[in-house]
Amino acid sequence: MLFHDVLIIGGGLAGLRAAIAAAEKKVDVAIVSKLYPPRSHSGQAQGGINAALANNPKAHDDTPEKHGFDTVKGSDYLADQETSIYLTEQAPEAVFEIEHWGCPFSRTEEGKIAQRPFGGAGYPRTCYGTDKTGHYILQTLFEQTIKHNIKVYNEWEVIGLAKDVDTCCGVIALNMHSGELEAMGANAVVFATGGSGRMYGNTTNAIPSTAFGVAMPYWAGIPLKDVEFIQFHPTSLYPSNILMTEGCRGEGGILVNKEGDRFMKKYVPKAMELGPRDIVARSVQTEILEGRGFDDAYVYLDLRHLGKAKIMERLPGIREITMDFNGIDPIEEPIPIQPGTHYYMGGIDVNIDGASPLKGFYAAGECACVSVHGANRLGGNSLLETVVFGKRAGASAGEYAKDKPKQPKTNALERALKREEENFNQMLKSNGNENPYTINAELRKLMPEKAGLFRDEKLMTEGLEQIRVLKERYKKIRPVVSGSSFNFDKIWVLEIKGNLDVAEALMAGGLARKESRGSHFRTDFPKRDDVNFLKHTLATYTPEGPKLSYSEVQITKYQPVERKY
Ligand SMILES: Cc1cc2nc3c(=O)[nH]c(=O)nc-3n(C[C@H](O)[C@H](O)[C@H](O)COP(=O)(O)OP(=O)(O)OC[C@H]3O[C@@H](n4cnc5c(N)ncnc54)[C@H](O)[C@@H]3O)c2cc1C
Repeated sequence: MLFHDVLIIGGGLAGLRAAIAAAEKKVDVAIVSKLYPPRSHSGQAQGGINAALANNPKAHDDTPEKHGFDTVKGSDYLADQETSIYLTEQAPEAVFEIEHWGCPFSRTEEGKIAQRPFGGAGYPRTCYGTDKTGHYILQTLFEQTIKHNIKVYNEWEVIGLAKDVDTCCGVIALNMHSGELEAMGANAVVFATGGSGRMYGNTTNAIPSTAFGVAMPYWAGIPLKDVEFIQFHPTSLYPSNILMTEGCRGEGGILVNKEGDRFMKKYVPKAMELGPRDIVARSVQTEILEGRGFDDAYVYLDLRHLGKAKIMERLPGIREITMDFNGIDPIEEPIPIQPGTHYYMGGIDVNIDGASPLKGFYAAGECACVSVHGANRLGGNSLLETVVFGKRAGASAGEYAKDKPKQPKTNALERALKREEENFNQMLKSNGNENPYTINAELRKLMPEKAGLFRDEKLMTEGLEQIRVLKERYKKIRPVVSGSSFNFDKIWVLEIKGNLDVAEALMAGGLARKESRGSHFRTDFPKRDDVNFLKHTLATYTPEGPKLSYSEVQITKYQPVERKY
């Protein structure tokens, strides 16, 4: 039976950084990833990573403390403050580390790391490598895993956890090459499975970013935190919803409606296009809903005034995308955009060390909710979170695993393997006729309608009922395609189950939160309500549906006040 001291599930930025930190604890580490790590979604990150380096002339007095305050304010005061302050204090060191490992950041004229303005930030503090920052950092970290000789199980999909009473003792994975299920023992497991955006139809997230990574620990009894908070990015390309980075507005791009009006002056006159994402996304949607969009579907992101040289130097990837997908050269024409579902602020409930309530089980990156984004993430803070908390979770897991016996808990692993085999066999023998992909398509259509930018009791009640009907229909699906090597039907049908259960938790959490905070905007409760709802939602899985409870938000330095931009 396979065994490693620490198993890292996911080869994106959080997983790679966790693996390096665990390896530095001199334990045997392996990464298990359904994608070859450099293909992970982190590589699509465009705009940059935040750190108060004060390199931009307009940011000479920027500090990590100011970054910490912006993060807490941006979160609409739902982020845990000790954790957020740790994130921003660690940021300069984290970025210098990547730089010293060879990441080709763009440079100022003096040769320092270049920084651009991003939304909701008081200073230009987003460090970037043109508009391909995620790609550069991902390659850089991957090189380091090679240097540390970290074993990677490429194209293995983890499908369940193995528990020995109250401790995680490994995972069950599908080796996609052979089609075999394997039990993989470990003393510590770190989940770094990325985002869940594919629960929604109008998303900037790629096909692998389903809620399955979050669903597995949920099914194993670990609560999900702040489930109702999902971020809508203001500028995704119409109609494909491919991201148009906030860097476009950071470099001076403007938003214009069909009347030629630069409408952000009505909503946040001071910050304009660089208001926080929740506010800018709702403003764009309001323009569209009130008839000032084009074809009732989009407004313009106009970059033309930036000029050819700046667009070619700072936003070459954006130009390539708009030319390839819409036949539009942003040097000559404005870009049609609309809000798109972008980032899941909710996730696996973990503490500052990445540790979950289940012993031996850790999580980092977008699948985790360590609570630094609260109700609204600031652009540029997620790449930062992957490296800061990836490192901390990997180090904690390495430390925890170090002195444990180096052998698999065979009985518990065999039980888990049997459970997953039976599940697959049941799927192969299923005698229903429901098409699972139709169910998923219906889910992805209803999510933006019922739990989108504007929510209310009626919409979410309908949404919850519809999800429950879809869950019933899922029990009657047609048999899964048989066949072993690279049988994607097996995997995707399982992932759809994850989407359904996490979407149900999101909808239930949103219904129960009768206030508006950050990305969760309720037209029937349009104000923030700190008296009743300054608290984290926790959703615990039960076969009948999520059970909700609440935990305290850590308020240390900054008392919640009304956000003004
Ligand atoms: C288009 C786009 C642009 C963005 N730009 C920025 C930006 O400029 N700045 C910023 O701060 N943030 C940005 N974000 C957000 C940020 O990129 C992500 O939140 C972050 O990269 C997530 O990293 P991760 O390591 O958690 O997950 P990922 O990079 O998604 O990695 C997940 C890994 O888990 C593996 N995996 C998943 N499920 C399984 C399984 N069951 N078994 C085995 N392996 C599994 C995958 O193979 C993958 O290797 C952007 C997001 C998008 C969608």
